[in-house]
Amino acid sequence: MRNSKLDRRSFLRMAGMITLASTIPALGTFAKREEKIKDIFSNDDKSLTLKKTKIHLDEQWDVIVIGGGPSGCAAAISAAREGAKTLLVESMGCLGGMGTSGLVPAWTPFSDGEKMVYRGIAEKVFNESKKGVPHEPKDKMDWVAINPEWLKLVYDRMVAASGAKVLFFSRLASVEMKNEKEVDAIIIANKSGLSAYRAKVYIDCTGDGDLATWAGASFAKGNADGVPMPSTHCFEIVNLHVNPSNEELFRNLYSGNKTSPIWEMIASDKYPAIKDAHLCINYIGPNAVGLNAGHLFEVDSTNPQSLSDAMIHGRELANQFMAGLKEFRSSIFADSFLINTGQLMGIRESRIIQGDYTLTLKDWIARAGFPDEIGRNNYFIDIHNSKAEIKKIVAEKSIDHLNRPEPYKKGESHGIPYRCLTPKGLKNVLVAGRCISTEQIVQGSVRIQPACLVTGEAAGMAAVHALKQHKNNVHLVDVDYLRKRLKEEGQFLM
Ligand SMILES: Cc1cc2nc3c(=O)[nH]c(=O)nc-3n(C[C@H](O)[C@H](O)[C@H](O)COP(=O)(O)OP(=O)(O)OC[C@H]3O[C@@H](n4cnc5c(N)ncnc54)[C@H](O)[C@@H]3O)c2cc1C
Repeated sequence: MRNSKLDRRSFLRMAGMITLASTIPALGTFAKREEKIKDIFSNDDKSLTLKKTKIHLDEQWDVIVIGGGPSGCAAAISAAREGAKTLLVESMGCLGGMGTSGLVPAWTPFSDGEKMVYRGIAEKVFNESKKGVPHEPKDKMDWVAINPEWLKLVYDRMVAASGAKVLFFSRLASVEMKNEKEVDAIIIANKSGLSAYRAKVYIDCTGDGDLATWAGASFAKGNADGVPMPSTHCFEIVNLHVNPSNEELFRNLYSGNKTSPIWEMIASDKYPAIKDAHLCINYIGPNAVGLNAGHLFEVDSTNPQSLSDAMIHGRELANQFMAGLKEFRSSIFADSFLINTGQLMGIRESRIIQGDYTLTLKDWIARAGFPDEIGRNNYFIDIHNSKAEIKKIVAEKSIDHLNRPEPYKKGESHGIPYRCLTPKGLKNVLVAGRCISTEQIVQGSVRIQPACLVTGEAAGMAAVHALKQHKNNVHLVDVDYLRKRLKEEGQFLM
């Protein structure tokens, strides 16, 4: 288990997963949902008009956050702390999103090599999360493992302590508009059937930008060919045997190492679901590891059939990994078993919502600061190659000529402007997390959990400032005051 930033970087280079910056369009094309719906339903000429139905309306809320991943939890905590009556709606039965239901087994670095970059609520969540992995060094800030059961509890406790209310097993199903720009109410589907909830400001933390899209925001999806980064169905294996005699073998599981068993698994014909060398492994508890391994290509998380097929394929992939590890590293895995696969598919990228500002590759390379920045990010551009890109790399037998942005050096970071959280043309909606307004290549950097916590905290706070001071208009928020409040809460801003 080698988790330094350099190790991961060099692993990605070897596995050929970072794509060529120059092959990615400078700016994804933002379009409305109507222009994209044909991608999802092949028989789109058929339709059904819903009959008028009276449903229950709950209108006691100031702020409603949809999606309880890292961004949604931080947004709800922050909005409630700022004094808003806040509801957090989550379709699963726990909080944490990819870090819990998705079984992503580690935090990307919290430091820039010198100091902590992601502070405020992010730092608090991180510190609490570390208590669930006592085998990790106390002062470690980079690539710390996640114990997902513990992280669920951390989010439960922090959100409850903030005063925000949580509604589990409840999925955003539709959005009712007051006019073209303003969301009136949202429709939730759960065991009560359909019900409506009304707030003054709504925060979209669904990862996929469901709320913003359904309210009419423009969005981009995928690379120039519309293809998103591949997904990974994470999983957990327990009952490993690691002892001084095979410890070195355990360390070499990571596919950055030439002696990783992944190369033997690929070379063997027995594991056809394993198509490329992606194997990250973290020790998440006693004799238990979490794996972020394998790729599923061209999964569209906004297409229910694509997502369903991917879950089935993902479980197959996880089981083939288990069998391959038993075969090629029996001293470690002979008695182990696959205990869990993610309840959520590991979606790296789907819709990117167009905001008042779109963070560009140029900004990322310039380590740009912004007068309205609400946090900083220093993660490298972690784009996993598409099938076509991998083919090209294999055909050209080289990745060295690729013109990739170099990772930041120690102490470097860029700002995230508030305007990336404000969907163009929507008055009372904010977005946070992996669907904020960036060029696709930059999403490969800001999509990580620490940055999602940071954008979530800013969105939660801004929602309350908008409703208290600007008649719910998120575009009019006083960014100097927002930044002052974020700094008071400990956020790292320049
Ligand atoms: C395979 C993989 C590996 C990764 N590796 C790392 C890593 O090592 N370290 C790291 O820090 N980050 C990593 N990331 C990135 C990170 O985990 C995600 O980008 C991040 O969790 C996104 O946060 P979010 O809050 O935007 O959304 P998510 O974490 O995706 O959470 C969204 C939540 O919204 C809910 N939701 C969605 N739609 C609806 C709806 N319509 N109604 C109600 N609820 C809804 C979902 O159930 C989910 O709980 C990885 C991601 C993937 C996929």
